[in-house]
Amino acid sequence: MRAIHLKCLCLMLPLLIVGSFFQSRALAGAFVLQEMSWVEVGEYLKENDMIIIPLGSTEQHGPHLPLGSDYYQAFEISKKISERTGVIVAPILMVGYSEYHAGFPGVLSIKPETMTQVLFESIEFLIEDGFRRIMFMNGHGGNAIVQENLIHRINQTTEAVAVALDTEGTEEEYLDWHSGKTETSKMLYLMPSLVRMEKAEKPTMRFTARMERLQAHAKNNPELDKVFTALLGTREQTKKGGASHEFSSNGIWTLSDLQSVSEALGKQNVDIVVDKAVKFIEAWREAE
Ligand SMILES: [Zn+2]
Repeated sequence: MRAIHLKCLCLMLPLLIVGSFFQSRALAGAFVLQEMSWVEVGEYLKENDMIIIPLGSTEQHGPHLPLGSDYYQAFEISKKISERTGVIVAPILMVGYSEYHAGFPGVLSIKPETMTQVLFESIEFLIEDGFRRIMFMNGHGGNAIVQENLIHRINQTTEAVAVALDTEGTEEEYLDWHSGKTETSKMLYLMPSLVRMEKAEKPTMRFTARMERLQAHAKNNPELDKVFTALLGTREQTKKGGASHEFSSNGIWTLSDLQSVSEALGKQNVDIVVDKAVKFIEAWREAE
């Protein structure tokens, strides 16, 4: 009981400090657009023109992580940034561009041009309201092309400025790309109730002969790794053997040991991303 009490107090202290800093919304936590009234957004816009838009996906993440892993990571990280900076977070889509994960039940995907269009039209409303500084927090590699297109379109055709927030955490182990040690650790820290660790199983990775040849040659010519990675995450119709279900037995893409995942590693990764974003937002605020 006493231990719990002390833990609560420790959690409360930083909240109280942040709360007193943002006096208008003391102890309110993150500013999430859908949880605010139009009056509150109007008040916010008198002093602030920044907004964070998380980009995620609904795609298979192995047998142990939920389909919404990328969405939850992008959203939860954005909320942590919001708690420390007071910047509004506006989730618009829970679905992303995930075609190469098709073949596992529950996967959703929309085309990059559809995703760009839906996001752009929504963001046009935000810009009309007065938002001028738009930051994307992308939680899914497949969305990179969408993020790039959106940033280009916003910067070239509107009064607003759009940038991508840095999502690099600690250096990942080789090929620990999807639902592996790093990502599972992040989910253990951010959404522990959705992680089924007892189902976490190292996948059998079945690379094509072409991929194996490239991997072998890449030992002497590391640049060839580019070709190997270009083959991964491709649609089944392209016949490259790079669709998720073609080379991974259970949807996880990793060579790392899944028993070495830890909440601490997850926290370390999330903290790096959040700290970098907070520093960037503070610098941008000071600059203009
Ligand atoms: Zn993911």
